[in-house]
Amino acid sequence: METTIVKNVRPWGGAAIDVTIAAGRITGLGPATVWNDAKVIDGAGAILLPGFVEAHTHLDKTLYGMAWHPNNVGSTLVEKITNERDSKSRLGLDPARQSARQVALSVAHGTTHIRSHVDIDTEHGLKGVLGVMETREKYADVIDLEIVAFPQSGMLIRQGTKELMDEALALGAEVVGGLDPCSMDLDPKNHLDVVFGLAEKHGKPIDIHLHELGELGAFSMRLIIDRTRAHAMSGKVTVSHAFCLGHNDYLAVGRLLEQLAEAGIAIMTTGPAGYPCPPLIRTLDAGITVCSGSDGIRDCWSPYGNADMLERAIFLGMRNDLDRDADLRRAVEVVTTGGATVMGIEGYGLGIGDVADLVLIEGETLAEAVVSRRNRPLVMKRGKVVARDDAALFATE
Ligand SMILES: [Zn+2]
Repeated sequence: METTIVKNVRPWGGAAIDVTIAAGRITGLGPATVWNDAKVIDGAGAILLPGFVEAHTHLDKTLYGMAWHPNNVGSTLVEKITNERDSKSRLGLDPARQSARQVALSVAHGTTHIRSHVDIDTEHGLKGVLGVMETREKYADVIDLEIVAFPQSGMLIRQGTKELMDEALALGAEVVGGLDPCSMDLDPKNHLDVVFGLAEKHGKPIDIHLHELGELGAFSMRLIIDRTRAHAMSGKVTVSHAFCLGHNDYLAVGRLLEQLAEAGIAIMTTGPAGYPCPPLIRTLDAGITVCSGSDGIRDCWSPYGNADMLERAIFLGMRNDLDRDADLRRAVEVVTTGGATVMGIEGYGLGIGDVADLVLIEGETLAEAVVSRRNRPLVMKRGKVVARDDAALFATE
């Protein structure tokens, strides 16, 4: 059995130790005895974290690596969705090729797990899902990838979408997606009936995009909370974006946070600059699991994004006015353990017996490494080195 020893690394920026790895798992923490056949890596005093968890992105539709796409899309959600659906074929967007490119970018920056929403609609069918499944299989050695069957163009307003969702879940998509029950399908009750019905039928968790603002969003949120309780799905439902929690009504937001915590619903926030969003520390303090993600990277919606979850921690920090070192650590926990909890990742962490999905980050302290967006000298997946110095060690098309 091959043993690897990563010498002189600082878990979460603490005291330096050596990490011993065998059969893809952590077998020792502390001063390591180096045996003749052990492979030794010098950590050079870098900060050690478990691999980043990209808990919300859209691998199937990134344009990363393609020619620059001049964006002149309208500002409403429906305009963006329609433009994207119409542009995919014209641009020659290949979901397998594109998802692989983004996986390489993610791994280069230290991500070891990805939850990707993947579009399902009656125009493109399961093309996206099949493409991302191809990437999931081909790159299984470097990334763990979870697919959310996502009705981006609406579930009920496009007849046949529900059946395609059912098919995707039967094929192996891990999570049931949903989208703005009021403003997209204009039929919140039936939209959520389908989402929770599919989750029950396939025994899978739920992750719903909820962009609806203010009272409308709060209304949808309460429906999601009621159903989560009724279906006994505590710990299995995530609400992504949840802009309504950025509503300017302190008491109303507090009541929603209490109900979300009690129902065991997780929240995903990207820390967006242009929208109201969940107050991070208040949400965490309510006992809610929070994860984060890049959302779409360089796609027909937005030209931004680089799949760097350390940079995402900066955005969370800036959006939420996190200045204290302890609060920046909480932002890092969101992009690591928060995502791992939401995705139910087995053996995640830096303990003995945990899977050796690891990232090394240069830096004086964890907070300094975040705000300076320090380099990642090494990334490991199941004990194997998959990236060095912010570059993936594998090629994509
Ligand atoms: Zn999204």
